[in-house]
Amino acid sequence: LRDPVLEALQHADVAALLPTPSAESDKYRRGVVGIVAGSERYPGAAVLAVAGALRGGAGAVRYVGTGADAVLARFPETLVSAGPPAKAGRVQAWVVGPGLGDGSDARQAVAEVLAAEVPVLVDADGLRLMEREQVRSRRAPTVLTPHAGEAAALLGASREEVEAARLASVRRLAAAYRATALLKGSTTLVAEPDPDTPVRVNPTGTPWLATAGSGDVLSGLTGSLLAAGLAARDAASVGAYLHGLAGRIAAGSPIAAADIADSLPAAWRDVR
Ligand code: AMP
Ligand code: MG
Repeated sequence: LRDPVLEALQHADVAALLPTPSAESDKYRRGVVGIVAGSERYPGAAVLAVAGALRGGAGAVRYVGTGADAVLARFPETLVSAGPPAKAGRVQAWVVGPGLGDGSDARQAVAEVLAAEVPVLVDADGLRLMEREQVRSRRAPTVLTPHAGEAAALLGASREEVEAARLASVRRLAAAYRATALLKGSTTLVAEPDPDTPVRVNPTGTPWLATAGSGDVLSGLTGSLLAAGLAARDAASVGAYLHGLAGRIAAGSPIAAADIADSLPAAWRDVR
């Protein structure tokens, strides 16, 4: 029986949604994902978001920000530019926020990305810098990926209130921002603004995922799935699924966020 309120993807559902290149594919047709992340204080967030994005099915990853040296040192395949996002080349989806800080450049970058007519994923500092109307007025899909504390700030509630009512909270968030809302935590939930659309509950994952930088990998991965052409709800739920599975594959002993990204190829193979 289908539950009208909740649903969970399984391996076969995810396998059917994974982007797969064909003989006609080239890197641009596979999708370019743009990553606006990192700052002088937090360059590592840029590296981890790019690490996730490189394993999400897009054909190329474009990084925009001050962390280009750190990103290139680890991932020479990344396209980088230093200017504002609006002046970077074309992308099929943007990720904005991890480690971005809260300077005026960061705020401007968030505004520019939200003005783009392609899907946008907002995470971390981006969630604090965005304005509700900038999100609500978008025509292309938006995905918000807060943890409970970030969701609480967006809803004007306390973290405890969000944790005590996670299903209602993720639905309120999606409705208030007219966006796909992914609420992270021990059980990650994905809601749509339409109250009749079941909330997706992520069945994978492990508490070992609770490690610094873990969410940055998830945002890059999910943005890459958006750039590859998945619908917002599918990108968010497939991103959470693969991220959780990668965490399980890497776990058993303490893992670092980079290990989650490194285990994403094994997660894809497992799903297939
Ligand atoms: P962030 O707080 O942005 O670094 O994201 C943390 C990531 O770890 C998210 O994907 C969460 O869903 C995941 N996570 C955090 N705590 C747990 C937990 N107790 N069990 C499973 N996953 C968790
Ligand atoms: Mg985070």
